This record gives sequence, structure tokens and C-alpha cells, in this order.
Amino acid sequence: MPLDTDQRPVILTGDRTTGPLHLGHYAGSLRNRVALQHSHRQYLLLADTQALTDNAADPAKVRRNVLEVALDYLAVGIDPAKTTICLQSGLPALAELTLLYLNFVTVSRLERNPTIKEEIQARGFGRDIPAGFLCYPAAQAADITGFKATVVPVGEDQAPLIEQTNEIVRRLNRQIGRAVLPEARALIPSVGRLPGVDGKGKMSKSQGNAIPLSATPDDIRDAVRRMYTDPNHLRAGEPGTVEGNVVFTYLDAFDEDRAAVEALKAHYRRGGLGDAAVKRRLEDILQALLAPIRERRAALAQDPGYVLDIVRSGTRAARERTQATLDEVRSGLGLLAFERIEDRACALRDSTAA
Ligand code: ATP
Ligand code: MG
Repeated sequence: MPLDTDQRPVILTGDRTTGPLHLGHYAGSLRNRVALQHSHRQYLLLADTQALTDNAADPAKVRRNVLEVALDYLAVGIDPAKTTICLQSGLPALAELTLLYLNFVTVSRLERNPTIKEEIQARGFGRDIPAGFLCYPAAQAADITGFKATVVPVGEDQAPLIEQTNEIVRRLNRQIGRAVLPEARALIPSVGRLPGVDGKGKMSKSQGNAIPLSATPDDIRDAVRRMYTDPNHLRAGEPGTVEGNVVFTYLDAFDEDRAAVEALKAHYRRGGLGDAAVKRRLEDILQALLAPIRERRAALAQDPGYVLDIVRSGTRAARERTQATLDEVRSGLGLLAFERIEDRACALRDSTAA
């Protein structure tokens, strides 16, 4: 095997293949990933097995969206020559790591995870929580550590999951007696989590409140028009509230002219600035941001074979890396490698005979 001389810090992040990506992903994570791929060794995981944890009744959706999410990656500027794009279900080492990690976390700790709690509620599982869903933080720990990633660019909602990963890492390292696995840090942009266009909760594929990166100009116009503002700001002349006003939250996330946004906020607070004018500015910005992404995406969608080949070769490379981590963890925990059992049995016999 060639000597691994790449000393750059490793990034692992990814997305569930539950639908095309949206502006929340862009602000929360994709933007960072595009910038960091030059200075880091970056792996992006198409998390199809994680997507099954709450979509077991619709595996076709999970499969279909592998291509959609890969298209989104390439359309926003992920360069497959710099970033390895891989498919979670093609990496069996991650599944085995998950199984091992489940012994280093308790059910009550999983139930206390604030992200999981919130997601269980949003999905209306009641008492019927799929076990795979409750345990997905352990799988996520396997994803991150399987690549020995130390940097995880994610949205704010993911912070408790990184914390839980590090807890598992510490327990496992303590058990093994040396730092086999590195701890990871979440890289969270100042935008935090982008709310949905309705202002209720975060923008999410599963909640129908998203502007996808592939939105048409008309979709964008409609979404901005119905965007939640200040419900008490009925006349342009009256003062309005900026906090919780989705249009301003989006301007904060996507308008690069900070001074202009601050001036608009002051004007809105003072009164004399109508919602329609602020929305016009936001619409212009979103149209300009999404037009080139949409065009690149449409061009790539003409050649799905090319995109899936990228995923296939990325998965092959990732398989080696994750298998190497699994081997280390297995041996750290004293599990015999199956193909070596015979050798060891022989070694044992020889040493007793001597
Ligand atoms: P689902 O509804 O299927 O859970 P999702 O829209 O929440 O989908 P994920 O695939 O779960 O998307 O999240 C992928 C990444 O995108 C995570 O790092 C997450 O933090 C980030 N992300 C998702 N939605 C937002 C958002 N609204 N604002 C900021 N970051 C987000
Ligand atoms: Mg999610």
C-alpha cells in the first residue's frame, strides 16, 4: 500500500439522501465545504442508510435521492478531484463500527440527545421510535471516526451529535488504553440554522418549508413572496421588527453587502420601509445565487452515469480508509480478525508447545 503522506486535517460530513438539498444546507454547511476542500482532505457521505432510519417504508425515495444529492454537491462547486464523495451503504466497515459503538453509549443517553428528542417529536413517532433512528448518533459517530475526521462542517442542529460522538470516542479510547480515535470539532457557521420560509422551525427537506437549490426562478419568487415577516407590520410607514423576520434572517445569510443590510434593518425598524421592498432585494440576491447552481445542475443531470461513477470511485477509496479504522478498533478491543484466527491459533499452539 502506498505510504499515506497527506497530513491535511480530515473533514467528514454528509447529508441524508431524503431529498434534494436546499438553502439551509447551503448556508449551514455546503458553503463551508466548498471553501475547505482546498485546505483539507474532505469526504462527503451520501447517508442513505441513515436516511432509512426514518424512511424504511420508502426505500425507493432514499435510493432516488442519492443521485439528487450528488448532483447538488457538484452543482455548488464540490470538486471530485479534491473531495471524495461516497455512499454510506457501500461502506460496511461503518456498519460494524456502529455495532461496536452501541456498547459505549446508553439508551438513556441517546434518548436525552436534544437533536434526537426534537426530531422524534417533529416526526410524530410517539412511542414507536424505530430503533435505528434512536441509535443513529452511534452510526454518525462511526461515520466521523471511520474517516478519522477532526473537522465536521455542519449546521447548528448537529452540535449535540458531535458532542455525543466525542463521548463515544473518549469511552472507547479509555477502554482501549490509547487514543485510537481522534475527537472531532463541529464547524458551525454564524448563520446557525436557517429557518423555513414559514418561519416555523428550521428549513428541512422533510417539512415542506424549503427552497431547494434546484428551485426555478418562479419557485424562488413565490417562496419569497409568501415568506414570513413581521405579522404586526401592516403598513410600510410603521416601524417593523427585524428579529424573527425570515426575510432579514435570509438577508443576513446571503447578502454579502453587510452595510446595506444593516441600513435596511435600521430603516425597517424606524418605519417607512415596506415588506415588498425588502423582499425584492432578497429575491434578487437568491435569483443571482441560485441561477448558476441550477444551470450546472441541469447540465450534470444530463449525464447521470458520470455522476454515479464519481460516487462509485469515491466509495471504493473510502472503503479502504474506513476498513483500516475498523481493523484498529477491532484489534484494540481484542477481537480477532477472522482471517487471522487460524494464524493466531497456530501461534498459540506453538508457544504452548515451546
Ligand atoms: P431531513 O429533513 O431529511 O432530516 P435535513 O433538511 O434536515 O433533512 P440533513 O440531511 O438532515 O438535512 O442535514 C444535512 C446537513 O445540513 C447537516 O449538517 C445539517 O446541520 C445541515 N442543515 C440542514 N438543514 C439546515 C438548516 N435549515 N440550516 C442550517 N443547516 C442545515
Ligand atoms: Mg436532518
